[in-house]
Amino acid sequence: MPEEDITKNLKDMVFGLGTDFVGIADSRAFESPDYVGNKPQDVMPDLKSVVILGVSVPNGAFDTLPKGRAEYTNTLMAATATLRVIAFQIAKFIEKKGYKATIAPSEGSEFGYWYADRVTLKADFSFKYAAYHAGLGNFGMNHLLIINDFGPRIRMTAILTDAPFAQEETPQMPLVSDACRDCLKCIGICPVGALTEEGVIHREKCADYMFNVLGGLRCGLCLKVCPLY
Ligand code: SF4
Ligand code: SF4
Repeated sequence: MPEEDITKNLKDMVFGLGTDFVGIADSRAFESPDYVGNKPQDVMPDLKSVVILGVSVPNGAFDTLPKGRAEYTNTLMAATATLRVIAFQIAKFIEKKGYKATIAPSEGSEFGYWYADRVTLKADFSFKYAAYHAGLGNFGMNHLLIINDFGPRIRMTAILTDAPFAQEETPQMPLVSDACRDCLKCIGICPVGALTEEGVIHREKCADYMFNVLGGLRCGLCLKVCPLY
């Protein structure tokens, strides 16, 4: 089957399973000198494509913060669990087409940061970078991906595969959203100063706050205040 047909089949299936967005990043994006994270090729050396799929998260989970932290955390985990089930079916679909596929762990699962390096807090690779290169959105000053139509109120998962899916020609967006320039609300609301106007994120401060101060519940204030949804 031609690449275009397999790609169309994949996207039809993904949306049929309840996903809100999907994109495909070429593995070569991770070879760029601009990329400083771990590489998915370290997991799958013959990687061709990273399939990114995600769902939007109900607004009530954000609007009830900070009192509703338990509900917020539970809603995020429900989204992660939903995506895990969908990704499993997609991985099986890819393998039926004669390729191999494996599902990358998302950094913020119910297991906290167990999937990430405990020192650097980096995952096996950046889902957000893959999503940016798939044309799904760009970054906010809260260091989250601002997905077209959904803003940062989303959850993503990723599938690594040696399938050479057809890449869509998408216009290159600026790396950081233009809307951030006159906003910076996320920086002001962060209770531990993890975000800076210079574009730095102190991941250790965010992780320490959520896992040691909030006992594992997620914070989410930098998403709640973001107007881009
Ligand atoms: S809150 Fe404002 S500055 Fe922060 S990501 Fe959203 S739009 Fe950008
Ligand atoms: S989740 Fe909370 S602690 Fe972490 S960066 Fe956002 S506002 Fe700061």
